[in-house]
Amino acid sequence: MHRSANPPLAIKARVLASLTRLVAVSLVPVAFCRAPGRARFTACQWALALRFPAEDLRGLAPQTLAAFTHARAEAFWRDKQLIGLTSGYRDPAEQHRIFAAEVARTGSVAAARLRVLPPEESGHVRGLALDVRPTEGALWLERHGWRYGLYRIYDNEWWHFEYRTVAPVRLPSPAAARWPRRTHGDEPWRRAPRPDGGRPPYMNATAGPAA
Ligand SMILES: [Zn+2]
Repeated sequence: MHRSANPPLAIKARVLASLTRLVAVSLVPVAFCRAPGRARFTACQWALALRFPAEDLRGLAPQTLAAFTHARAEAFWRDKQLIGLTSGYRDPAEQHRIFAAEVARTGSVAAARLRVLPPEESGHVRGLALDVRPTEGALWLERHGWRYGLYRIYDNEWWHFEYRTVAPVRLPSPAAARWPRRTHGDEPWRRAPRPDGGRPPYMNATAGPAA
């Protein structure tokens, strides 16, 4: 986070990034045997999973997952920038627990909403939100993520991104969010796709989105 103020951490991060890159390069031949058309993409995901062992990509909406993995593959191979997932999908009970804890910590619902939304409004519960790391990775995503439909949503959360088919207006904080309430099972990605797919350009490439 404050890498410049902590040289040992910055050095460690750089060494780990170099090692991750070496691992990815060495895994390309193996990935080629598994999926010849997307060896670098696959090897990059394997290497990042080793670098960020705690990350869990399960439960993300298919388009969010495809956007995130393709975006970070580009960041990795083109710009040598690692991007890890700190928190993606959360089930409603977990989101409720986080929200309740924030209400208890801050003393009010209004104060809690500056950082956390209740389950029925959270992009994490719908599989559309991604909390990423490190700060440099978030900056990369803020600069380039739009090409994949990934946008920073809040001024006060540099780490939080959401998949959108239309560029959103950035809000000061989650408290300013005005989500239509949805019932479970009515998430946008569960509905039939629109004729144009509402897809970002990269998904029209012949390689197609990630599985
Ligand atoms: Zn978040």
